Amino acid sequence: MYHHVKKLMFTVRIGEPEPRFGNMLLEQFGGANGELAAAMQYTIQGLNCDDPGIKDLLMDIGTEELSHLEIIGSLARMHLKPTKSSREAAEADPLVAIAGGGGVNLFNSQGNPWTADYLKITGEIDVDLRSNIAAEARAKIVYERLINFTDDAGTREALQFLMTREITHLKSFMKGLESLGIDPLVIGEIPPTPGLVDQYFNTSTGTGDDGEKDVRGPWNKGNGFRFVDSPALKGLADEAKADKG
Ligand code: MN
Ligand code: MN
Repeated sequence: MYHHVKKLMFTVRIGEPEPRFGNMLLEQFGGANGELAAAMQYTIQGLNCDDPGIKDLLMDIGTEELSHLEIIGSLARMHLKPTKSSREAAEADPLVAIAGGGGVNLFNSQGNPWTADYLKITGEIDVDLRSNIAAEARAKIVYERLINFTDDAGTREALQFLMTREITHLKSFMKGLESLGIDPLVIGEIPPTPGLVDQYFNTSTGTGDDGEKDVRGPWNKGNGFRFVDSPALKGLADEAKADKG
């Protein structure tokens, strides 16, 4: 059950509206890593979740994200308001100004409509929690960039609040995932093919113009990995050998 409380989770006050910044804020309103996407992703995952603890976590955070949507929408609207009457301000976001009358709508900063394609919902609890950890990290970095692009104190405070909550969510999703006690390399039930799973295919050769070459690290060396030269080039080498023979 949803209930609307006539109060923002964080009170937003701004100085001078900046319509161009208002346009950038839409990324967190109707964008891929925005608050509506987060709210819908966690809530729908929660509806599908049979684990009562994780379901509660998903529904709680999904609901908080809706409250974030309300904050970022209010903030964007304050910055976009001049697009209602000023031609110069309207140029910051013609879609908002001409089609939307200066109000926010579910588009990203480039005017692309919000889409359910943004959502990652697999119905596999650990897989979903990993998607959520990544989603929170993306939201955090977008907020950080927004903060870096405004000097308005009130705007920065609101964005700082929203950015901070994403780290809290990231931690809850991490701890929720850990609580399941699932080996991070065990996904689903069918085990990977032995031998094949240990092979790292080196699918590049040569040296690039800036000196790029094959690099060995823990992602392809040790840790049970076997470094295998490009299967495509191996085929060519075999053909060359056959031609000679
Ligand atoms: Mn949020
Ligand atoms: Mn979040």
